[in-house]
Amino acid sequence: MSTTGIKKPDTSSRRDAHAQRPLPAVTGDFYSIATTVSEDDKAILARVRAFMESEVAPIINDYWIRAAFPFELIPKMAALDITGISYSGYGCAGKTTVLDGLLAVEMARIDPSIATFFGVHSGLAMGSIYLCGSEEQKQQWLPVMRRMEKIGAFGLTEPEVGSGASGGLMTTARREGDAWVLNGQKKWIGNATFADVTVIWARDEADNQVKGFLVEKGTPGFTAEKMEDKMALRVVQNALITLKDCHVPEANRLQNARSFRDTAAVLRMTRAGVAWQAVGCAMGAYEHALAYAQKRKQFGKPIASFQLVQDLLVGMLGNITASQCMVLRLSQMQDAGVMNDEHASLAKAFCTSKCRETVGFARELLGGNGILLENQVGRFVADAEAIYSYEGTREMNTLIVGRAVTGFSAFV
Ligand SMILES: Cc1cc2nc3c(=O)[nH]c(=O)nc-3n(C[C@H](O)[C@H](O)[C@H](O)COP(=O)(O)OP(=O)(O)OC[C@H]3O[C@@H](n4cnc5c(N)ncnc54)[C@H](O)[C@@H]3O)c2cc1C
Repeated sequence: MSTTGIKKPDTSSRRDAHAQRPLPAVTGDFYSIATTVSEDDKAILARVRAFMESEVAPIINDYWIRAAFPFELIPKMAALDITGISYSGYGCAGKTTVLDGLLAVEMARIDPSIATFFGVHSGLAMGSIYLCGSEEQKQQWLPVMRRMEKIGAFGLTEPEVGSGASGGLMTTARREGDAWVLNGQKKWIGNATFADVTVIWARDEADNQVKGFLVEKGTPGFTAEKMEDKMALRVVQNALITLKDCHVPEANRLQNARSFRDTAAVLRMTRAGVAWQAVGCAMGAYEHALAYAQKRKQFGKPIASFQLVQDLLVGMLGNITASQCMVLRLSQMQDAGVMNDEHASLAKAFCTSKCRETVGFARELLGGNGILLENQVGRFVADAEAIYSYEGTREMNTLIVGRAVTGFSAFV
């Protein structure tokens, strides 16, 4: 009885019942975007999820600390039968890019480094051959790369040329009889320390156009030195490549890469994939943060019961869901053949920005524990920084969209 004489309702039994209810499942796919694909495709996604959770999650922090690559996973990834899944022919499954994107989410949700390794091989390297190779080159490389018997890398960025690659590549190619002589350096090239083939983009001295070359492992004049001390995507083996009078046969020149427009076609395709990766990275951090919030108690209650903590969680979920809807539509446009550069650029810039904000919220939610690797979220925070910058920074993608919507180019 209160001092006013009005009896207060007894809410304790309601509270107890509430406390005993099972908690909702932890999932970042709030709008069930992954259920929009066929039953066959759902089975593929489930297979990849099981692989990532059972084979990658338990070991990845150890590799991340040592900045080492888990080579033993390559045959297991090959067995998943998902490499080059959206390409047609050459043993590839000819599935949609929506499925390809959802696969990137499944990988990045557990580990963005593994998603990047796979994206470089299956997207950038195989994609260069798929889009720019001759029929003979495709027959030679795509089946073995699909089976992951040969691993690929993609060398565009240089020590002095990053965002400005379209106009300023300094690596040169000079024709000498039936061969080409490559000279220059490439920086940041993922997988290149061990790749069997690296696609090198270089400027032809004769016509000043950018051309692509398949440089095979062990080619004299090609060296790939591992880049040390990265603070993000530490499992990915990035290399500084030096090409010193590196002779490549004319047969290894990508026969249908005639200018940077062809390089850009590869980037357009893979940029969409990076936007999906950003969704996965944000989702992984969110799911760890939600599970943590349900368990961690302060002031005698799970922190998930505090309004400000729920605000963080819902902010994260909104970011993820908006990004998912965007990339789903983007890939539908890609599958319909109507996706342009600016569509991919908008998604890449938006989703990676939202990913960066989301992983920051997740870190905040974990308090001090958020910077301990054992709680997983810190790895996503670091890795989001690399995803944010590679395959076109936010600024470059913004300029691409800005040009498309205004009709004025603001590129310098
Ligand atoms: C982990 C990782 C993996 C990578 N893997 C690969 C790979 O496998 N293959 C490959 O070829 N490359 C790879 N890259 C390179 C990546 O694509 C470049 O880092 C990216 O394109 C940006 O180039 P940059 O780092 O040289 O930055 P810069 O071009 O030097 O840019 C520095 C800053 O200036 C801004 N800026 C530049 N120009 C303009 C402008 N005109 N207007 C406004 N702002 C501008 C940029 O947005 C950025 O903020 C990788 C990078 C990382 C970090």
